[in-house]
Amino acid sequence: MQTHFSLEQLADPRLAVSEAILRKCVHCGFCTATCPTFTLLGDELDSPRGRIYLIKEMLENGRPADSETVKHIDRCLSCLSCMTTCPSGVNYMHLVDEARTRIEETYKRPLADRALRALLGFVLPYPDRFRLALRGAALAAPLAPLLAKFGQTGDRLNAMLRLAPRFLPKRTGFPQASVRPAQKPIARVAILAGCAQKVLRPAINDAAIRLLTRLGVEIVQPPEEGCCGALVHHLGQEHEALAQAKHNIDVWTAEIDRGSLDAILITTSGCGTVIKDYGFMFRLDAAYAAKAAKISELAKDITEFLGGLKLPAPLAAQKPALAYHSACSMQHGQKITSLPKELLKAAGFEVRDIPEGHLCCGSAGTYNILQPKIAEQLRARKIENILKTAPGGIATGNIGCMTQIGAGAGVPVLHTVEWLDYAYGGPKPAEIAAIR
Ligand code: SF4
Ligand code: SF4
Repeated sequence: MQTHFSLEQLADPRLAVSEAILRKCVHCGFCTATCPTFTLLGDELDSPRGRIYLIKEMLENGRPADSETVKHIDRCLSCLSCMTTCPSGVNYMHLVDEARTRIEETYKRPLADRALRALLGFVLPYPDRFRLALRGAALAAPLAPLLAKFGQTGDRLNAMLRLAPRFLPKRTGFPQASVRPAQKPIARVAILAGCAQKVLRPAINDAAIRLLTRLGVEIVQPPEEGCCGALVHHLGQEHEALAQAKHNIDVWTAEIDRGSLDAILITTSGCGTVIKDYGFMFRLDAAYAAKAAKISELAKDITEFLGGLKLPAPLAAQKPALAYHSACSMQHGQKITSLPKELLKAAGFEVRDIPEGHLCCGSAGTYNILQPKIAEQLRARKIENILKTAPGGIATGNIGCMTQIGAGAGVPVLHTVEWLDYAYGGPKPAEIAAIR
C-alpha cells in the first residue's frame, strides 16, 4: 500500500512502525474471508482491509480519530485471525494497538462510554475490586431486564450482569507464595497468578501447580506480582498498560536475579500474547527494553512448557471426548495450534476439532461487554459449532473463552491444564463427575 507520510512524521518512531506495516499490505483482501466481524456484518469497513485504510487515513493525515473510525476499530475483536491469513505478513496487531492508543489520546467518547471504560480499567485488573464487583453484579442480576430501555449502555450493563457468575469459587487452594520447592527440581519457573482468572477460576492455576510439582518443577509466584496489563492494553489505556507491565517486569527480573528462571508460565493465552509482546512494547524505553525483551523470551504458555517435558503414563480411567476450542490469542496471537491437542491425546483423550475453529467466540477481553450484540452472535455460532462434535467436555486455554462459552455449552468447559492434571493423577474436577 502506498503511503504519504512526511519525513517529519516518520521521525516519530511509533508512526514509522505503523508506516512500515501499512506498506506491507497489498489490498488482496484474503484476510476478509476469515474476519469474524466481516463474516457477520458484511461491511468492508468491518474487515481488516477496511480498518487498515481507516487507520492509514487517521495516521497519515495526523488528525484526531473521528466517530466513524472509532466505530469500526471498536468493533474489531483483536482476534488476529487476519494475521494468520495474510500472505504478506502484515502485523495488524501492532497497527490496531497503535490505532487504539491514538483513539484514546485524541477522541472524546460519549460520557457513558468513557465512564464504563474507566470502570473496567479500574476494576478488572485488581482481584479484590473484581471480586467485590462480581458480588454486586450477582445481587443486581434481577434488574437486568429493566436495562433494555437504556440503549447501548443498558445492553452493555446487561452483558456485565449476564456474564457475572452467580457464585464465586473459593479462593485458590494454593495461596500465592514465593517459592514452591520440588525435590530434585528439573526446572524453576514462575507462574503468572493473573487477575480476573484468579477470581473466576482459581482451579486453573491450582491444577497447573499440582501437575508441575508432581513432575518435579520448582514454582515461583512472587506475591507482589499483579495484572500483566493486557486488559487495559486492549482498551487503548496504554499508560496504565505499560505501568502494570513494568511492575511485573521488575518483579520477575528480581526473581531472575535471585535464582534464575527457566520460564515464565502463563495459563491465560490472552495474557501470554501480550507478555510475549513486551519486548516490542518497551522497545523505545531505554531503561526497560532489555529487561522486557528477556521477559518476553522467557514467557511460555503452560502447554508449550509441558510439551518439552517427559510426561508419565496417564492414570485417570474416565476420559470424555473433548472438543478443543483454540482461543484466538492461542492460535492467532501465539501460533500455538496443535500442541495442546497433542498433549490431550497423549493423556488419553479423544480430541475433536470444531468447525470454523478459526472464528472468535466473541469473548476478546472486554469485547463481550462493550460490543454485546456482535459478541452474542459469535458466542451462539461457536456453541452451535462445538455441539456439532457431540463432545463430553470442552478444553481451552483462556479464561475469557471459558466464561463466554461456558454457560451455553451444556458440557464442562475446563482449561487444558485441568484436563491434563486430572489425567495424570490429579483430583477429579467436580464438573466432570457425571459426564459420559
Ligand atoms: S483482528 Fe479479528 S476482528 Fe479485527 S480485523 Fe482482524 S480478523 Fe477482523
Ligand atoms: S491479507 Fe494482508 S495484504 Fe491482503 S488485504 Fe489483508 S492485510 Fe492486506
